[in-house]
Amino acid sequence: MVNKVVFIASSSRSGSTIFEQLLSQDPRFFGLGEMRYYYTRMIRDNELCSCGKVGGECDFWSGNFKHVSECGSIIDSQNKIDRIRYLYKYIFLKPANVDDPFINNILSTYNYAFEKSKVSNLIDSSKHLSYVFLFSKIHENKVVWFIRKPKDVVISWLVPKRRPEITGKITYMEKQSVIFSTLEWVFTNMLFLIMFLVKGKAKVKPVFYEDFVNNPGGIYSEFLDFMGYKPNVELLSSLDSSKSFEVNENHQVAGNPVRFNTGVIKINIGKSSNAVFKWYHSIFVRLFADPLYYLIRVITK
Ligand SMILES: [Zn+2]
Repeated sequence: MVNKVVFIASSSRSGSTIFEQLLSQDPRFFGLGEMRYYYTRMIRDNELCSCGKVGGECDFWSGNFKHVSECGSIIDSQNKIDRIRYLYKYIFLKPANVDDPFINNILSTYNYAFEKSKVSNLIDSSKHLSYVFLFSKIHENKVVWFIRKPKDVVISWLVPKRRPEITGKITYMEKQSVIFSTLEWVFTNMLFLIMFLVKGKAKVKPVFYEDFVNNPGGIYSEFLDFMGYKPNVELLSSLDSSKSFEVNENHQVAGNPVRFNTGVIKINIGKSSNAVFKWYHSIFVRLFADPLYYLIRVITK
């Protein structure tokens, strides 16, 4: 069995964490979380793994803490290459240099995770444009492109959410203005659309959050088909009968606070806090982001 890393690509707040949690319950997959933040948040800042322990004490990650002393130089290397401004290079020019300390160490961390988890498919839900373009090019890995309606993404940016992975003080997830989050949604999804058009359906799988919520079993089966597998019968029947699945302890790095949830997880659309979303926000989102959303729907059909 060939080891593979599958990347989740999306704009922030698109609901991909629950999708990764679901895939991690399939015994052939292991969800890593957002590896883009492995060196900054987990190693340097000592933030919690989704198992509730800091990385150095976590049963899964502690064996890979050998490069703590080099963490500063790895982050310096990341700051030089994992940047939106270099996207043109990763799209049009040669693949990134695998000898860069950041790339090299992430690749060796994948190898560690393959060995430790004993599965041959890792899911990296870093999502971010430059990271996904950078790493998906190195081994021509597959990408799942997760798309959520812009209105719901924008609302999610307006509502304060606690970050439980930071202990000792109360910290909230970043908030962002309607204009910035709308434009970020457009920019990010436009570039992933280009990636889809260049690489094709065999390499990039678009998944709409709304479709996932309406028919999680169907989307799960489509994903498995994209990866060349048959669905896990138990997981599929739980999704089809109750739109829910059971989450055991996992070890995801960074990402949305829902990754700390265990037990039975019910997939539902959730309530949007419409109170924070004013009529003029709605006009802005409809004018600037909705056309692209519907265009993506048509093109990727
Ligand atoms: Zn852990």
